Amino acid sequence: MGSDTNFRAKPDLSILRDDVLAVSAYHVPPAEGLIKLDAMENPYRLPAALARTLGERLAQVALNRYPPANPAAFKAKLARAIDLPAGMALMLGNGSDELIHLVIQACAKPGAVVLSPWPSFVMYEMSAKFDGCRFVGVPLRADFSLDGDALLAAIARERPAVIFIAWPNNPTGNLFDRSAVEAILDAAPGLVVLDEAYLPFARDTWLPQLADGAKPRPNLLVLRTLSKLGLAGIRLGYLAGDSAWIGQFDKLRPPYNVNVLTLATADLLLDHLDVLDAQAAEVRAERARLLAALRALPGVTAFDSAANFILFRVADPDGVFAGLKARGILIKNVARMHPLLAGCLRTTVGTPQENDAFLDALKASL
Ligand SMILES: *Cc1c(COP(=O)(O)O)cnc(C)c1O
Repeated sequence: MGSDTNFRAKPDLSILRDDVLAVSAYHVPPAEGLIKLDAMENPYRLPAALARTLGERLAQVALNRYPPANPAAFKAKLARAIDLPAGMALMLGNGSDELIHLVIQACAKPGAVVLSPWPSFVMYEMSAKFDGCRFVGVPLRADFSLDGDALLAAIARERPAVIFIAWPNNPTGNLFDRSAVEAILDAAPGLVVLDEAYLPFARDTWLPQLADGAKPRPNLLVLRTLSKLGLAGIRLGYLAGDSAWIGQFDKLRPPYNVNVLTLATADLLLDHLDVLDAQAAEVRAERARLLAALRALPGVTAFDSAANFILFRVADPDGVFAGLKARGILIKNVARMHPLLAGCLRTTVGTPQENDAFLDALKASL
């Protein structure tokens, strides 16, 4: 005590923003030694031969050079792979999380509102708040469908700069009624971002609507990511929309936000999308099996899902979550996220073996 070597001055944090000090950090629980079904990752790795090809490709990458500030050739290849409508532009992000943040940042005039049906992806709210916007979550109905009247009233009242709609929604897993989303697009005074993170499992998209001659949607943006398709580790998302929007957002983008290893990996895998598509097909088949197995369990209400996860309700979510964890399975407890999610847990669809282990552990934990 009192010796000089032990003395360390405490940093004075008072210069930090009050809202930063007040918020608790986005919690990523440790998953060491557990079967990881908490984060909607694809459970499959690349086949060994393709992984070796990737290794060779990555070995050729010039790590001493900055990435291209505008990887035009890669973006053109991506545009072809996804059938980007003519005249539309793409912007790449360090995951779609970064793009959510940049869209909001670009619109964050004083008093700007970001709106989303709620509960939905927590990053919409976090990014809005960190960029000084007011966030308005419009409650879903009890069956997790859109409350069209409440949404249209909120849009008229709040005049949101940006509306986020997850398609399908996380954490509920459902696709909303398309005509209800059309009504939101008709009424929105600002941008509407359709977040298609789960496209490989929903196979339902708004991308063609970007250039529907009969019904132009100049304020529609479509957000996607490679994360849930099987490349969560490389962090690559993309935003599609009118080049007038993309050009403005691009001013805020850190010039080297997507690194050379990510670009090289994605470039190779665009030539092998059949591999990732086949993995997604296995996940979709397992989703159907898992849903049926959950529905056969007394005391479990499992909801339909167009994503690679299933939301289900039990009487004692904390007890079941802890029971699963004690048996080596990590899922996500969303029961306290929102009153509509009372009793709810969310599990990612894993491999058949992982799903069997989950079901066994669940039966023992109910
Ligand atoms: C998982 C998820 C994302 C993914 O974000 P990345 O940063 O691309 O990994 C985006 N939106 C929703 C709704 C998600 O569930």
